[in-house]
Amino acid sequence: MDKRERIDKLIEKIENLNYHYYTLDEPLVSDGEYDQIYDELRQLEEETGYVRDDSPTQIVGGEILDKFEKHFHITKLLSQNKAQTHEELEAWIDRCNRLRDEYNRNHDDKLAELEYIMEYKFDGLTVNLTYNNGLLVNAATRGNGTVGEEISAQVRTIRSIPNKIKEESLLEIQGEALMPLSELTRYNEENELQLKNARNAAAGALRNLDTKETAKRNLTAYFYAIPTNDLDFSSEEEMLEFLKDQGLLIHPYHKKVHNLQEIIKELDFIEEERKRIDILTDGVVIKINDKQTQEVLGSTNKFPRWSIAYKFEAEEYTTTLKEVVWNVGRSGKVTPSAILDPVEFSGATVSRATLNNYDDIIRKKVRIGSKIFIRRSNDVIPEILGVVDENQEGTKEIEKPSKCPYCGSELIQGNVHIICPNSISCKPQLLARMEHFTSRNAMDIEGLSEKTIAQLMEELDIN
Ligand SMILES: [Zn+2]
Repeated sequence: MDKRERIDKLIEKIENLNYHYYTLDEPLVSDGEYDQIYDELRQLEEETGYVRDDSPTQIVGGEILDKFEKHFHITKLLSQNKAQTHEELEAWIDRCNRLRDEYNRNHDDKLAELEYIMEYKFDGLTVNLTYNNGLLVNAATRGNGTVGEEISAQVRTIRSIPNKIKEESLLEIQGEALMPLSELTRYNEENELQLKNARNAAAGALRNLDTKETAKRNLTAYFYAIPTNDLDFSSEEEMLEFLKDQGLLIHPYHKKVHNLQEIIKELDFIEEERKRIDILTDGVVIKINDKQTQEVLGSTNKFPRWSIAYKFEAEEYTTTLKEVVWNVGRSGKVTPSAILDPVEFSGATVSRATLNNYDDIIRKKVRIGSKIFIRRSNDVIPEILGVVDENQEGTKEIEKPSKCPYCGSELIQGNVHIICPNSISCKPQLLARMEHFTSRNAMDIEGLSEKTIAQLMEELDIN
């Protein structure tokens, strides 16, 4: 066979394998076989100099761009009207019903009873793809809805996004690029650069001129809307089916419901479910299913009247770090604890957060006075993820203590932690050891609390 033909064949084959691997999550071949096919393609391209722009070898990243180009969306990308309470949802449903009834009074073709499709509201970066003649010709950020930035090279590193689709007409397809939480963990284990949260990590990856960095973050993307098309869909459901059929990734969760009660029931389910999935979501989008009703209801200049975003309470909060206190543990480990501007965390007031050690402070670039991100982690003291702005003014460096804040001993730098070597008379160490000695697993002295031990030590000089 002609080598060029073989290259075309291999590209087609790899695209099909990618589709099964990344989109369907049903690999057709082992990783080893995949690498073999990929290597053959690369070798043939080298031999012949015939390298197609859409070749998988060209889209794994590596290109460094000078700057971002502006991209004008064909259809303005609207945002979502938001609701945060069930009452606001009810008001929205009432308004939709009113508009529908009004239309039905004045027209012979009646709109059906309202049905809604519920989908996750993804917490990443919105991307708008343009396909023409079946090829991915552009990818851009949402920007202000009219003009975004072109990020085609970055988006081509997302392997679940097909370069080629069956449909040949001009399409704009909107979705959300995300960094899976498992990828965030993996990345932070393998790299010096620590990513604070999955949303910033995804946005930062796509707005990075070095596409090698974009590729390293293993982003994924889910699609949910077709702003520009000449296709005649009868419903949201049909549109989602179409996207799936074209090889684009749509999230498996989308649920058809009929009234407020069903919506609320689903919201309760999702509020729990979203803690178990591998991507960040901050709510649910509820859309009227019927396309004709969508058209009748239309849009304001900001958002469609036929859809609404219900936002859950945030899992991550920002607050200010007021100071750092150093605690001394049983074995003399000196660990930092952050004192925060108190913040309401789903009912509880939080004023302390964990910082593991001094290296953690340096790595997260945390300073006194810094605005920081904290994350709720199942009822334990929240964790500091990082600072909001590394260049925030008026902040002060957190000093590494050289003397024990309790006994004044010169501290020793261990492998990871700072240590107070005074195990004989450093009070917090004695207290912690005494507590350990009397605890259930040791002497098991019932009713002897930490407070009582402290008092005994203080008043009777017990040691
Ligand atoms: Zn000490």
